[in-house]
Amino acid sequence: MKTYISLWPPQAPELPFPRSLAILGSTGSIGVNALDVVAQHPDLFRVAALAGGRNARRLAEQAAAFRPGVLAVLDEATAAELKRLLPAGYSPEIQVGPAAYEAVASLPGVDLVLSAIVGAAGFLPTLAAAKAGKRIALANKESLVMGGRLIRAACRASGAVVLPVDSEHNALFQALCGHNGDEDLARLILTASGGPFRGRDAAFLASVTPAQALSHPNWTMGAKISVDSATLMNKGLEVIEACHLYGLPVSSVDVLVHPQSIVHSLVEFVDGSQLAHLGVPDMRIPIAHCLCHPRRVGLNMPRLDLASAGSLTFEAPDETLFPCLGLAKAAFAASHSHPVALNAANEVAVELFLQGRIGFPDIPRLIEAALARHAALPEQCGAAELIQADAETRRETLAAAANGTMRPPRTPEE
Ligand code: NDP
Repeated sequence: MKTYISLWPPQAPELPFPRSLAILGSTGSIGVNALDVVAQHPDLFRVAALAGGRNARRLAEQAAAFRPGVLAVLDEATAAELKRLLPAGYSPEIQVGPAAYEAVASLPGVDLVLSAIVGAAGFLPTLAAAKAGKRIALANKESLVMGGRLIRAACRASGAVVLPVDSEHNALFQALCGHNGDEDLARLILTASGGPFRGRDAAFLASVTPAQALSHPNWTMGAKISVDSATLMNKGLEVIEACHLYGLPVSSVDVLVHPQSIVHSLVEFVDGSQLAHLGVPDMRIPIAHCLCHPRRVGLNMPRLDLASAGSLTFEAPDETLFPCLGLAKAAFAASHSHPVALNAANEVAVELFLQGRIGFPDIPRLIEAALARHAALPEQCGAAELIQADAETRRETLAAAANGTMRPPRTPEE
C-alpha cells in the first residue's frame, strides 16, 4: 500500500478560504447537495463555475443564486435555453459540449473542483483537473474505475489531491486521518445497504421494475447510481475506487452489508482494531468534509441519534444472487482495462433496464459477456485508448442486447 492518492496522511498544501469552487454536475443529486452546503457557508466559497448537462432550468436557478462567471452545458439547445432563463444584467461565459467540462475542470482561477458528473463522462474532466493540479472532491467514482492509473499519475505529476466524496471512501479517509503509516493497515471494509432487493430471491429479481429499483431504502440519489445500488454494482465500482485511492489489491477490500446505512465503512488495523465512521445517510456530510477539509463546519440537518436508530445489523453480501460485485472484483484483478469494459457495459445495461428493454437479471449477463469479449489493453495505454475501449464495449453491449439473447423483462404475474 504505497501510492494512495487520497489526502492521507494529511499532507496537502493549505488551501485558504474563501475557496474558488467549480462544480461539474451541479444539476444532479450531488451537485444540489453541494450547493446547499455552500449556501450554508457562503463566506467559505466563491462559486467560480457551474456545469450541468441538459437541465437548463435548474442550472439557471443555481447560476442566478450563486453568480459564477462560467457555466457549461452539454449542447447548443441547452445553452440557448439557459441564456433565455438567466436574469437580466448577468452574462456569464457559457461553454458548450463535452470538452467544456475539461476546460471548466482546469480553469486557472479555480482551486477546488467537485467532480459530480455521472458515469464515464466524468473521466476526462476529472483527469483534466488532476493534470491542472486542482484539489478534487471526487464523487464520480467511474473516473477511477476507468482510468485510476492515469489519474494517480497525473496527481503525482501536478500535486493534485483527490478527496473522496463517496460516503464509504470518505468514511475510510476520516478513519485513516491521523494514522501515520500503511504497514499497520490490515484491510478496508466497505459497508453496503444491500439496496432495495436485499433478501429477495431470483424469481422476484426476474420481474422487478425500474421504479422498484429506483426506490432506495436509505439514500436519495440519481437514477444510475440507484440501479447500481440495487444490483450491487455500486459496491463493485466502490471496491475498485478504494483500490485506486488507497493503492490496495482487491483482496484487501471487503464488503459488509449493513441495511441501516449508519456505519459508512471501517478500517481494520493489524492489531485487530477496527475504526468506523458513523453518521446519518446524508451526502452533505462527506461533501462538506471534502470541500472544507481540514476544517469541519456545522450543517443544518438532523444529527445521528443512536438510541433512536435502534439495532445496527451486518451480514455478508449475496454474491450469487447479485453477481455484479464479483464481476467488478474480477475485472479489477483481470487487467487495468477490464474495468473500462465493466463500466461501459454496466452503463448501457442500466440505461436499457431503465427504458424497460431488458430485465434486471440481464444487467449482470450483459456485463459478464462484455468482460469475456474484452481483450486487455497494454499496461501503458493512454486516455484515448481507454475511451475507445469504452465506446467499443458500448456498441457491442447494445448489439448483444438487441440480438435477442437477453430475456425480455417478465411481468409480476409470470
Ligand atoms: P445525477 O444523475 O443526479 O446527476 C448527474 C449530473 O451529471 C447532472 O448534473 C447531469 O446534468 C450531469 N450529466 C449527465 N450526463 C452528462 C454528460 N454526458 N456530460 C456532462 N454532464 C452530464 O447523479 P448523482 O448526483 O447521483 O451522481 C453523480 C456522481 O456521483 C456519480 O458518479 C455517482 O456514482 C456519484 N455518487 C453519487 C452519490 C449520491 O448520493 N447521489 C453518492 C456517491 C457517489 P443534467 O441533469 O443537467 O442533464
